[in-house]
Amino acid sequence: MTTPDTEFRLLIGGEWVEAGNGTYPIVNPATEQVVGHAPNASAADAAAAAAAAADAFPAWSRTAPETRADLLNRAADLLDKAYADLVPLVQAETGATMRVTKQMQVPMAATRFRRYARGIREELEIPIPPGIMPTTALGPGGIMGAVVRRAPVGVVAAITSYNFPLTNMSGKLGPALAMGNTVVVKPAPQDPLGIVKLGEVFDEAGFPPGVVNILVGEGAEAAEALVASKNVDMVSFTGSTAVGQMIGSVAGRDMKRLLLELGGKGACIVFDDADVKQAVTAIMSVWAFHSGQICTAPTRVIAQRGVYDQLVEALEAAAGHLKVGDPLAKDTVLGPVITGVHRDRVEGYVRSGAEQGGTIVTGGERPDIDAGYFVAPTLIADCRPGMKVVDEEIFGPVVVVVPFDDDDEAVAIANRGDFGLYDYVFSGDSARAYDVATQLRSGNVGVNTVQRNHEASFGGFKMSGVGRDGGRFGFHAYSELQSIVWPG
Ligand code: NAD
Repeated sequence: MTTPDTEFRLLIGGEWVEAGNGTYPIVNPATEQVVGHAPNASAADAAAAAAAAADAFPAWSRTAPETRADLLNRAADLLDKAYADLVPLVQAETGATMRVTKQMQVPMAATRFRRYARGIREELEIPIPPGIMPTTALGPGGIMGAVVRRAPVGVVAAITSYNFPLTNMSGKLGPALAMGNTVVVKPAPQDPLGIVKLGEVFDEAGFPPGVVNILVGEGAEAAEALVASKNVDMVSFTGSTAVGQMIGSVAGRDMKRLLLELGGKGACIVFDDADVKQAVTAIMSVWAFHSGQICTAPTRVIAQRGVYDQLVEALEAAAGHLKVGDPLAKDTVLGPVITGVHRDRVEGYVRSGAEQGGTIVTGGERPDIDAGYFVAPTLIADCRPGMKVVDEEIFGPVVVVVPFDDDDEAVAIANRGDFGLYDYVFSGDSARAYDVATQLRSGNVGVNTVQRNHEASFGGFKMSGVGRDGGRFGFHAYSELQSIVWPG
């Protein structure tokens, strides 16, 4: 069982080693108590991890896909066994409510490993119909056969955000390992301990040394060294657009492959003919699902004038029923945000919403709780594009509402701004909703739902990212296409 005295180390080339920069404390956002001490990697540790992954790549990339599938399944089974130990640890370091931790933070990882083990051969080869080629100066003609195969990219640096540490990382590890890549894992500094435990699971499952390496660091030193390493072929990053831009500029120097999953500001268009209850339940997820710390949340409600007042009233009433506080209590819906610095940032946004003409319908006051970084569910109505709370990502339990008159105006408001990750349309007319969805500059659109289909592609338009994963698209993300041509 993990205790505050448990020692956490880096995993580099199959060895559990102390970090070059010692350790640093991980703080429970609900209690402000220390959960444990994480290893604090140096640039030299990052270089060693990337080198170990590069050494392991040739042999690992030539293993039979079924061998890789067996190992992924074994990791999933071991993860299931570690559930009882992992849940309290991940809950404590993320501050997520028990419900969110039990349903989404931990079991999703095993599900993802099994998914990519199951599909291990599904996207490997694409047969091309024979092509009749005339004789040219290049060579004799004939019937040319061809196959396009997926080859692993090489060493993948997988760098993730703090909100769902295991879920986000497993979405990278599953397809990357299944394709035959080796990986250096770099979780967010705020809550990396569950990821170190995940490293133990991979170690125990029998992955060869260097195939999975775990790098944890408090600041940007190790992450920057990893991105810059000549041994890294691909950076798969989930995090803010600002850091994604920095990674893109460094990775571009060596033509590193990129999967960038960045910020979002989910537009949620609610038409007059929508089922208001359905829309309210969906929008409430901004408050109820990990205190709005999710890139896909429907935070920017764009409501048609005929339904506007009813929607705002229903959201206000709903917010009043949500209990904020101890994430371990069964009836708690909103736990804390990740740090005091982040709470200050969220509160600053709410103040700016009022200053720029928004109406704080509910929330806006710091909950009266002794310890922890809590933010009340907040609703800001009477907003308009151009306000900071409308244009920028807040990443907290804050919903803003903007009115509109007709479909074209709704689409124009939704498409304004830098982000295009996940939008939503609520209408009783699903054909109209589909038509509007196709006009949205967004990688994903939910029609009358915030629920996902994990086989669909996932990723962002515009500044919300580059590339796609999700389902079989995960195999695409972590592979290079290689065409092989022969005379028939
Ligand atoms: P962040 O960008 O601050 O940090 C993400 C990761 O980048 C961390 O591991 C951090 O250590 C690392 N990092 C920081 N500086 C770096 C550098 N110079 N070089 C390389 N790595 C560096 O993001 P966060 O606060 O952890 O997460 C919140 C953000 O993540 C939000 O913007 C949210 O929208 C986004 N997010 C996006 C998705 C998606 O799928 N699109 C999913 C979850 C979160």
